[in-house]
Amino acid sequence: MSDSVQKYRDYVITSFVKSVAPLVIEKASGAVVTDVNGREYVDCFAGISVVNAGHCNPEVIAAAKAQMDKLVHGASYLYHVQPVADLAEKLAQIAPSGLTKTFFGNGGAEAIEGALKLARLYTGKHEFIALQTSFHGRTFGTLSVSGNMARKKRGGPYAAGVAFAPVPYAYRSQWRNNPEECGRHCGQEIEKVIRFATSGDVAAFIAEPVLGEGGIVVPPPNYFREVKKVLDQYGILFIADEVQSGFARTGKMFAIEHFGVVPDILVTAKGIADGFPLSAFTTRPEIAAAFEPGDHLSTFGGNPVCCAAALANIAFLQKEDLPARAAETGAYAIAKLKGLQERSPLIGEVRGLGLMIGVELVRDANLTPASAETEAIRDAMFQQGVLVGVGGAYGNVVRFQPPLIVSQAQIDVAISAFAEALRQVIESTTLPVS
Ligand code: PLP
Repeated sequence: MSDSVQKYRDYVITSFVKSVAPLVIEKASGAVVTDVNGREYVDCFAGISVVNAGHCNPEVIAAAKAQMDKLVHGASYLYHVQPVADLAEKLAQIAPSGLTKTFFGNGGAEAIEGALKLARLYTGKHEFIALQTSFHGRTFGTLSVSGNMARKKRGGPYAAGVAFAPVPYAYRSQWRNNPEECGRHCGQEIEKVIRFATSGDVAAFIAEPVLGEGGIVVPPPNYFREVKKVLDQYGILFIADEVQSGFARTGKMFAIEHFGVVPDILVTAKGIADGFPLSAFTTRPEIAAAFEPGDHLSTFGGNPVCCAAALANIAFLQKEDLPARAAETGAYAIAKLKGLQERSPLIGEVRGLGLMIGVELVRDANLTPASAETEAIRDAMFQQGVLVGVGGAYGNVVRFQPPLIVSQAQIDVAISAFAEALRQVIESTTLPVS
């Protein structure tokens, strides 16, 4: 056993996801991860949807190194630091219209917590509405607004004052062949949730524009417009959690741009700085003004090195037009996966936007989740040198979320490995084979 595996066992508190053999990563570049034995893997998970501009992107690393030589920590909320100011300005330029003021934290959950707190202060209201299979983090507050039992099991009860609305998941709804109706129904359902599952004191509705941990669920195009109508009627803010879907991943800079609505608060992390720990929430000036001096602070939030890395990262995303590239490569991958679906009854649905792609595996026509098979496929792909994620409310969705610079040749390798893994898993079970 490698030294680091043993030390993890002895000294690191962890709850690692299962995998056939532990991967000990030595280095990574672009869309390739290399282990301590020199074995290379095509990375189709990007460190949980983080390194959108590629692992160790040279332009991001150079910017971070240059900043490290000048200032590593400046207490960005006590003093003024240039990269923080520049990044806030940059986010104001690329965020949906009107969202111009940003608070910086270190990770996704911290930014969600801050957004929830700000929504309460601004509205003077206290409750929240979230989606049933949503995931927003692992702190107490973020678990309280997460519906996804697969990610929040044990540790409850969670905070009161949160009501959960049906997720616009057409594939597992009665409107499988009519997503528009699913979007309309689930959107309008928010009003019933407000009336019958809250005390009417709702500060904000929080949702991921594309659900990540929930199994890459893409809401129907009309869904958020329907939701927004209800929210506006009741004076409820819309917090878009773009921690996983932001920064070009879905083929737009932010996934909410696909849906024709503007959120009141946009929360970002993961892809913001290509692997450097940073998060943000960005909002309109009048909402931001609800924070008075002393209301909110983060010692490490807005770290200058991370902000410098984020600026270089965003410059790279724009220079290389990674939204367009993600859309193109994603369409290529989805077409290939749909080709496989025609030949494999185990594949229930292939869905996604850009390079946020999920393949939902089911055992039969009743959509019985093929959860064990999904894990077996992830492990079989790992054996072939390809990393993917697993998610979904039932743990039966294979997630393809590679760095956005991934080549079509690397996608071919990943999908061949997926096809072979499917074959192996089907062969070793009693599932029907076409
Ligand atoms: N929100 C979403 C949509 C996420 O996918 C995650 C993490 O996976 C989080 C929030 C929490 O982010 P972090 O793990 O950086 O706290």
